[in-house]
Amino acid sequence: MSNVEAESAEVRCGAAVDDRREAKVPEIEVLTPREVPLGGPRAMPVRRTLPQRARTLIGAWCFADHYGPDDVAKTGGMDVAPHPHTGLQTVSWLFSGEIEHRDSLGSHAFVRPGELNLMTGGYGISHSEVSTPGTTVLHGVQLWLALPGEHRHTARDFQHHVPEPLRIDGAELRVFLGSLAGQASPVRTFTPLLGAEIVLDAGAAITLAVDPDFEHGLLVDHGEVRMAGTLLHPAELGYAAPGTETLTLVNESADTARTVLLGGTPFEEEIVMWWNFIGRSHDDIVRAREEWQNASDRFGAVEGYPGDRLPAPALPNAVITPRKNPARR
Ligand code: MN
Repeated sequence: MSNVEAESAEVRCGAAVDDRREAKVPEIEVLTPREVPLGGPRAMPVRRTLPQRARTLIGAWCFADHYGPDDVAKTGGMDVAPHPHTGLQTVSWLFSGEIEHRDSLGSHAFVRPGELNLMTGGYGISHSEVSTPGTTVLHGVQLWLALPGEHRHTARDFQHHVPEPLRIDGAELRVFLGSLAGQASPVRTFTPLLGAEIVLDAGAAITLAVDPDFEHGLLVDHGEVRMAGTLLHPAELGYAAPGTETLTLVNESADTARTVLLGGTPFEEEIVMWWNFIGRSHDDIVRAREEWQNASDRFGAVEGYPGDRLPAPALPNAVITPRKNPARR
């Protein structure tokens, strides 16, 4: 209702030049998180902003969990037993703490702050994630990327990359996927993507040139950040549709603000997401679940995890329906 009124006022009052200028400021949709227990000894909670009813994907980004700062002495930290993935890549990005990663490719890696760990599930992989004994505070994001149809059965892979921090006026950037502000990640992606950590000084305002073919999401970790005029609170994800050439971010807090900027060309395929699987149909999910439960070679085995693998939950009685973003308003 209020939107309709604002638009009609603009039509009546705005000169042509003003209208054009206003059209360039993207309208920001604010996505709020819901709390989900991750598992582990005392079930560390995570704040999930993707997927949700209002939005399934931003580019190929289809899953966004934000956690911490978590006092590991109280929560027990992270302990996720071997579990499978298919049709997706996982991106682990930490702000503090350390996670020990083991997968069925044979990778044994430590996920550390400022270091990208990108695991490609492809046709099938399994992995475990455990915060290390030395970790006192665990804080970061766990993100998934949907693989496009032609690559969704690609081979397992694991990549590690440490982006060089880039200092621009009022902010420090770490571009872990894609390119921003002249910094480019060498990590290959299956669809055009952007992933970057941006830490803003107190009161800083920056304007970034972005790809107008991309849609963008800005996740606020801490601080109060205005994204193209819309104020975002910690744990919120601001969404900007394609068609914008610049994004202005303003830190309105008296301390630094940390954000993660995600982007990509809209992912037009319908996907079916259930548990840790992405497929294209209910049958894809049923098959993947069955193969995990039967310890099929599809997912391989994780060596060195002290415990049992995670059993898949029961399938819902109903057919799992594909998800797509709601039609553009
Ligand atoms: Mn996983």
